[in-house]
This record gives sequence, C-alpha cells and structure tokens, in this order.
Amino acid sequence: MTDNEFAALPPGVSAERFRAAIAKFRDAIGQEHVVVSSERVAPYAKIMIPEEEEKHMPAGALMPKTVEEVQKIVAVCNEYKVPVWPISTGRNFGYGSAAPAKRGSMVLDLRRMNRIIEVNEELGYALVEAGCTYQQLADYIEEHDLALWLDTPMPAPIASPTGNTLDRGVGYTPYGEHFLFQCGMEVVLANGKVLRTGMGALENSNTWQVFKWGYGPYLDGIFTQSNYGIVTKMGFWLMPRPPVYKPFLVKYPNQDDIVTAIDTIRPLRMNQVIANAGTVSNALWEIAVGTRRFELWEEEGQIPDEIVTAYAKEKGYGAWNVYAALYGTEEQVAVNWKMVKGAFESSGGTLMTENDMDPDDPLWQYRKDMMSGTLSMQEFGMYNWRGGGGSTWFAPVSQARGSETLKQMQLAKEITKKYGIDYVALFIIGWRDMHHIVDLLYDRTDPRQMRAAHDCYGELLKRFAKQGYGVYRANTAFMDEVAELYGPVKHEVNLALKRALDPNGIIAPGKSGIDI
Ligand code: ADP
Repeated sequence: MTDNEFAALPPGVSAERFRAAIAKFRDAIGQEHVVVSSERVAPYAKIMIPEEEEKHMPAGALMPKTVEEVQKIVAVCNEYKVPVWPISTGRNFGYGSAAPAKRGSMVLDLRRMNRIIEVNEELGYALVEAGCTYQQLADYIEEHDLALWLDTPMPAPIASPTGNTLDRGVGYTPYGEHFLFQCGMEVVLANGKVLRTGMGALENSNTWQVFKWGYGPYLDGIFTQSNYGIVTKMGFWLMPRPPVYKPFLVKYPNQDDIVTAIDTIRPLRMNQVIANAGTVSNALWEIAVGTRRFELWEEEGQIPDEIVTAYAKEKGYGAWNVYAALYGTEEQVAVNWKMVKGAFESSGGTLMTENDMDPDDPLWQYRKDMMSGTLSMQEFGMYNWRGGGGSTWFAPVSQARGSETLKQMQLAKEITKKYGIDYVALFIIGWRDMHHIVDLLYDRTDPRQMRAAHDCYGELLKRFAKQGYGVYRANTAFMDEVAELYGPVKHEVNLALKRALDPNGIIAPGKSGIDI
C-alpha cells in the first residue's frame, strides 16, 4: 500500500498511524461507516468557494449513528491526533460546504443521526438530532397536521436546523435569527463527556426546550461558529401558524432609493409592525435568480448598470425590491397594514400584495414561501447566472440605517467591478442591524475567474474592515483573516477556551480562525 491510498493525511500523522486509527474507527462505528477511499471522499471536497479543493481535502469521513459512537470517535481522535470536522448536513454552500477548513481533517458526517426526538405543538418547539433536515421536519409537521411553522435558510429542504443555527445562519419569518430561537443543546466534548446546556443539565427537567439560559454562564453561544464541541442534539422554537399571513413587495425605481427603503422599514421593524427579517434585493439579484448572464451580457467585466436597468424595466423589477410580511389575526394585520401602506406609499415605493401578483411569478412565489417557512430551492437558480458552480457570500453587518447603504453599495460595486464580478446584492433587515449579502458568482472551471473571486473577497474584507464593517460569517478560505480583524484579545480568549476544552485540537481545527 502506498501513501496515496488516501485522499489526504491528517497533518503530522503518518500513513501507518492513520491506518491504525482507521482500524479503531471501524471497530467503533462499523466498517461501512468509515470512508477513506478517494472516490468516496471526493464528494466531501466539493466546494463552491474560490479555492482549490486540494486545500480542503478531507482524509476521510466518519458517519456515526449514536452519541456513544461519537464518544468513541473522539477517543480515537485524541489517541491518534486525528482531527474531525463536524457537519450536520454539509450544505453550507458559499461558506465552504462540507469540506474542512484544513486539509487532512476527517469529516464527521452526522447525517445518520437524524431523528426527530420531539415536536411540541402546544409549546412550539422541536428537539432534533444534528442530521435532521428541514424537509424531515416539514414532512413531520404535515403528517401530524401541526399548526407550526419552520423558519428556513436558502437551501432549505436539504439543510439542517442544527448546522444552520450553529453557523448562525438566518431565515425570513419572524423567527429568522436562528440562534435567538435556539433552546438547549447536547454536546459531545473533546474529552468524550456529554454536556447538556441550559435546563438540560438538570435531572428530570422538562424545561430544556422552553428556557434558554439555565444557571451560571450561558454556554450555548460558545458552540456556535466554533470548534469547542460536537453538537449531537439541538432544541429550537417553532412559530405558531398565524391566522393571517400577508406578504408584500415594494419596488423602488432608483438605486439611491435604498436609503429611503431602509429608513422606512427600520421603525416598522423595531416596533414589530413588520415582525420578520425582510429583504431588500437589487435588480440584479431578481434577474440572476431566473436568468443566465449571457442572455443580457456576454462580455467579461462587470455587467454595466444600463444593461441591468433596461432589463429590469422590461421585466418590471425595481432597482431595489423590498419583501416583507405581516402576521397575526385579521384585526392585527389590518391595523398594521394601514401603517405599512402609509409609510411605504409616502416613501415613493410601489406597494404590491398577492392580488397584484401573477401567481406563477417564481420570484414572488419563493419569497412568499420563505417568509412563511415553506421549503424552496428557487434561489438556487442564481448559481446558473454564471454557471460553473462558483459562489461565495460576502456578508458585512451594518446599522439598519439608510445612510449606511449607499457607501456600502458604492464600495462593494467598485471592488467587484475591479475583478469583473457582478454586484448581486441583498440587504436582510434584522432588528437594528442589516446583513449586506453580496453573492460573488463566478465560474469555478475558469482559473482566472476563481482567482478574481478569491482576491475580490479578500479586498472586500479589508476595505470594508477599514470602514469598521465586519462580516457575520465567513467561508473556510478566509477564516484566519476574518479572525484577525476581530482583534488579538478576542483571538486570545478563543484560543484559551480551545486549549481548555480540546487540548489536542481534534475538533475542527481552523474553524473561525481557531487552531492550536
Ligand atoms: P447546513 O445545515 O447548512 O448543511 P452544515 O452542516 O454545513 O450546515 O454546518 C455548517 C457549519 O456548522 C459546519 O461547517 C460546522 O462548522 C458547523 N457544524 C455543523 N454541524 C455541527 C455539529 N453538529 N457540531 C459542531 N459544529 C457543527
């Protein structure tokens, strides 16, 4: 046998030692659940971010079925210094998919741990194993005719509440800030012990999924965007299905109208008139979801504004498009609608509701679905804009103020233009913040485009940071750079926790720039 019998080797581990570790993994979880052959490892290395797969090549994958098996895995990892990269479903597209930050980690694929342990209609919560998908939950809710809604991120059916929440992802209903609505975790620590957070640590407790804080330091946060433990179960709240749901769209004709759009939404959002995480997408976002680039523009270089504007006009898209919704009883929605109507109409936007829409309009349909937690894959259409499977999300956070938008838009446009990348953008409106989401779409089969997307992301990161803007989440190619921007003290604390909880560094080395 030669060394290249493996797709990659864990750093500092010889092929011989790795073979011995594999034998132990096989004993622990069964031969067929330990993957090391290059062909079977290859799908775990498939990424959309602008970096070579080789840099993120896993040494293999492990697919445990139970908490005890995860405990056995960490024991072997510690003994042989083989690191694992936990994923729940690995659909973290645009941030690194299933592949590890560092070459040579083994993917700890929790897809077989996918039980729905409880869905409680009365109290509106669910407790699931990490690998449980949104689709499974949607099917369960339908089958049992429960008056509950999910809140899903973009690749909803195939992604998991656990993975998305642990990476602090967002959705689009009033429960859109996923970590805020998370309640209770079960975590296998690097030393093999099992921690239940919050009220879950108490014997005979029935409050694990209803009270977030427990007693003493609140720990759930340190298991998100981190590498301090392997989350095997997670609780989270589900929204009671409201009697009335009224989604709406406001179109603004000019690029500068983004200022007014945000300043109109903010007070409505802060006062909970608009309860959900609404979005404001630019014309190119609307276009890219359903169109191929060559239908508008075949040249290299950023697509010119005039082309986008003309096409948007033809199709009836705004330069900016607000999608938000009202939820509640008929009376509540009627009162809130008056406020929404007054505010948006006097802001110069064109307000549209279900009655004004073509029921077959896919753009309207998918927003309507997402803001009511209905699963949709429509937004995936965006990956065909350029083709070639390249995408990475640049996602800086700002105050939810109109005055923040133009400078961010201009800076992002200037930098993306320099690299020949189109400015496909969306603002997600939180309670007081915005996530400015820019999807850098490029063709991964073209090395020049890949390099451009990589360098473009790097420059965006640096120049936005100079203005005081940081990203809320980062892809695996740039985790160290992002961690550095958040400063040495934060980094020191992150490392101190890592040393205390995982002295051999066996869990997800490199996650969020944390590596010892
Ligand atoms: P998705 O639900 O989008 O498929 P992933 O499974 O790709 O999410 O998870 C996103 C990221 O969250 C992973 O790259 C990993 O860093 C972290 N993560 C996911 N699941 C776990 C878990 N069970 N324990 C610890 N970290 C996890």
